[in-house]
Amino acid sequence: MIAVQKSLIIAIDGPASSGKSTTARLVAQKLGLMYLDTGAMYRAVALKIYRTGIELTEKSALMELLNNTEVEQVGRDDGVHILLDGEDVSEEIRTPDISLWVGPVSEHGLVRERLVAWQREIGKHGSIVADGRDIGTVVFPDAQVKIYLSADPHTRALRRQKELAARGIAQSVEEVESALVTRDQRDSSRAHSPLRKAEDAVEIDTTHLTVGDQVEKVLAIVKKQAAATAK
Ligand code: C5P
Repeated sequence: MIAVQKSLIIAIDGPASSGKSTTARLVAQKLGLMYLDTGAMYRAVALKIYRTGIELTEKSALMELLNNTEVEQVGRDDGVHILLDGEDVSEEIRTPDISLWVGPVSEHGLVRERLVAWQREIGKHGSIVADGRDIGTVVFPDAQVKIYLSADPHTRALRRQKELAARGIAQSVEEVESALVTRDQRDSSRAHSPLRKAEDAVEIDTTHLTVGDQVEKVLAIVKKQAAATAK
């Protein structure tokens, strides 16, 4: 049993399909903390912009849209669901179209400013495990535990292909890998909060790890941090 501090933030960053969401969700479950999927928030906002068809260059229209958008994450028996203005969009935000569209949306300064503010607000209300690209570097730079998950691109593509197949979307591994690599490059080279490992993050290469191994490794790091804080 790990004694969790009053306000514990566990930040898990890394490239697409490195195992962040699954690991973060299970670690949160084991520790009885809230899980925050920040990628799903960017995806939901990207879906809304995609549907409304506004141009990202239309600053005032984008502001207006962000001011009138509500993204919620709710836990149900079958997992975490994402609600966009009350509508369950959990499936729709994971399509290859939205995976392509989320890149340009998430590098927009206005979008990042708003989403980071929402995420910090959520972090004020209790302990969380949050996963994303900039959690340990920008959103919660003072997080007590920072993890950076990595894995080789081919392994990540195989994982993503399996996930897509389970949702009835057929794509070749090559297609999936090329989309992942393009998205990583975009996420790593953007001006606002690029994907990078925080200096004080512990890197875990998940290429040859099972989900169980990943979770155990993160829990061991949390335990070590809790013991160091108690001293
Ligand atoms: O984690 P997921 O693959 O669902 O994230 C989708 C996209 O959202 C990422 O490729 C990235 O462009 C964006 N994102 C981000 N910052 C985060 C989380 C996700 O820019 N904290």
